[in-house]
Formats: sequence, C-alpha cells, structure tokens
Amino acid sequence: MTNDPDAPARPALDAQTRAVRAGRRGDGTSLAPVLWPTSTFVTPTVDDARRMATSVGSDRFYTRYGNPTVGGFEDAIAELEGAEAARAFSSGMGAVSAVVLGLCSSGDHIVAQRQLYAATQLLFQAVCPRFGIDVTFVDGTEPGAFAAAVRPGKTVLVFGETPANPKLDVIDLDALGAIAGPITVVDATFGTPILQQPLRHGVDLVLHSATKGIAGHNDATLGVVAGSRELIDWLWGFAVLQGASASPYDALNAIRGIRTLPIRIRQQSESALVLARALEARPDVEDVRYPGLPSHPQHELAMRQMSSGGGLVTFDVAGGLEGGRRFVEAVRIAQLATSLGGPETLVTHPASTTHVNLLPDELAANGIGPGTIRVSVGLEHVDDLIADFAQALDVAAAGPVPPSVS
Ligand SMILES: *Cc1c(COP(=O)(O)O)cnc(C)c1O
Repeated sequence: MTNDPDAPARPALDAQTRAVRAGRRGDGTSLAPVLWPTSTFVTPTVDDARRMATSVGSDRFYTRYGNPTVGGFEDAIAELEGAEAARAFSSGMGAVSAVVLGLCSSGDHIVAQRQLYAATQLLFQAVCPRFGIDVTFVDGTEPGAFAAAVRPGKTVLVFGETPANPKLDVIDLDALGAIAGPITVVDATFGTPILQQPLRHGVDLVLHSATKGIAGHNDATLGVVAGSRELIDWLWGFAVLQGASASPYDALNAIRGIRTLPIRIRQQSESALVLARALEARPDVEDVRYPGLPSHPQHELAMRQMSSGGGLVTFDVAGGLEGGRRFVEAVRIAQLATSLGGPETLVTHPASTTHVNLLPDELAANGIGPGTIRVSVGLEHVDDLIADFAQALDVAAAGPVPPSVS
C-alpha cells in the first residue's frame, strides 16, 4: 500500500508557510493553538456518546481515544508528511511499540535495520521473541538488503531508520518504498518532516519521536505515526487499548514547536555543516559523519532524498573511552545530555551511556567506537560552538589530570 505522492491534502504552499498555521482544531478565533486539558467530554445524549465512543479517531469522547489539542498536532504532522492521517503517542517508543505490537502477531516475521535507536533495537531483540515474532536484522545501507530478507507470506513489517542513530547511516527510501507485500515503516526522527518525507517515496508509515526536533524545545515527550487512513485507523484501535496516548500539554508544546520547525532545521543544518568541516580539519578527530559532507558514505543518496544534512554530527575523538568521557565533560557551551533537536547543543558519548549494555563487538556492529561522540547542534552561534569544541578536544587530548600532591 502506498500513498499517492501527488495528493497533498492542502494547497502546494511551502512547508515553511504551512508549518506556521498547521494544527489548529477549534472555531478559528484563537490565533494560538488551544489547550484542551480535559480528560473527558460531556455529550448531550446517549446517541451522541455512542457515536463518539465508536467512531474511529474520535476527539470528543475521552482523551485516551482522542483530544482536540492532540488532534491538532496529528493534523499538522499528517499535513507536513503528505499523509492521510496521523496518530500521536505519549513517546516515540509508544509509537514504535504500537506499530510493532499493533501490526504483528505470533508467527509473523519482521525485517529490521541493524543500525537503530537502542530502545527500538532492544524491543526487537528482547520483546518480539517473547511474543513469537521473528526478527531478521540487516545492514540498512547495503543495497537490496531489506528486500532480500523478506519472506513472502511471512514478513509483515520492514522497519528502517534514517538517518540512523548514532552514526547517521542513510537508507534508500525509494528502495524501501518499492518493497511490495509487507508494511514498510521508517523512523524518521533525525530527519523530521522538513528534511525528508518517506511516504512520498512509497513507504507506508513514517514515525517520529516528536520529543526531539518536532516539539524542539526539550519540554515535551511525544511520538507520532503517519500514513494511510486505513493503517492509522487500525493503529488507533490498538492505541486505545495500549494506552500510550499523548498528553494535550505535550501536543500543545509540539504545535508551538512546529511553527518554527523549518527555520530551526535550516539553521541547525547550516551550523552542523560548518562544525563538521571544522572537526574534519582537526588531527585529533576521526571519522566525522555528517550526511551533508562529501566524505559521508551515503552522501549522494542523502542529498537526493534530504533537503539538507540535518542537525546531527557524529565523530570519534582520540583517546578511546577515556578521551570520549573527558571530551563530553569538558564542553562548556554544549551540554552532556541525551536527546536531540532542541535549541541547546547537546553531546552524548554512546559507549558510556545509551549503548553501555552492548558488548564491544555489538558496539562495532553499530559503528560505535569507544570514542564516538554524537552532537545535536543547537541554535547557538556556530563560532562559539567551534571554539568550545576546540577547547574540549584539547582537554581530551591532554589526558587525565594528575592527582594533586598536597
Ligand atoms: C528518541 C528516539 C526514539 C524514542 O523516542 P522517545 O520519545 O524517547 O520515546 C525513537 N527513535 C529515535 C530515532 C529517537 O531518537
């Protein structure tokens, strides 16, 4: 099943224009999006209540089913993705788990990319087998790998992520979208709907941790899935039972964030490219990964399907595990915190934090070295960031501070 690529729901205005006004459900008199904090809704008659309870996607019955503020957020994402519909969740993992457990049954088979957000990978490795769901991992950057692993009649889901955490591997959306039979899904969190629209490449479902760039201010925990009305309606039926429903407060923050999403992404991409070039010029930095750099292994593919390189940069600092630790503790403008896509530049050291439970060979299979650093470039001036990274790299290179003798 694919969405008609030439059937956007609204006039062909630029995304930057649409983002300013997307996501309003109300009578149209409030300029700002309206918060509906209510958990439930008053219905005048029994017939109204029954209609609300049984109509798929209802936003006036009970907030676990749907809510006008959450619905506004869903409308905005559907509009930016060129989707018929979207469903919000209480987190990105709420969205991932609804797609996997809502669409697959015992005996089914999934093809998943090896390079994945760590929690998604763990869901496939540890939870799916408990429910009798078989998962085959493939290298998402290897041409044809997804299609070759599909077992006709058995494979229900093909799951990719692009650009992928943490080394920013890029997968071919056209190739994924061309796979017939199973439902194809892309976690497009690192791209946001501004850099790429997987549905326009024939992919069936696109999902996001809207906690990241979409809400964009580190003040909302939120997920979303967009696709055809048929698939989203099916997911809605599961989501009402799963219970990972989005909070109206978070949805409000996300609609607020969407208004500046295109200009934030543009600025972050511009700064990330300049920072990546500065890092590439340093002798104590290796393997700078940025989709917008010609040295990125999938640079041409990235530039075909993404409007710019995005706000994430990955590199390896000299000195291995200790070098990486020293670097993330030495930055002064950037801050050591997990998450991404906000105004503040954040650095993470996967080998000692998000991927600490992986064995060395598993780390290597994910392309993660002991000194790998992931940077989410924020909205600070890039000259200040370059200076900050330079002093932190000097600290990392200097080695451990000798204990003071007193
Ligand atoms: C953060 C993230 C998730 C999980 O989202 P939460 O909102 O933290 O649940 C999934 N995929 C990617 C790529 C992410 O960055």
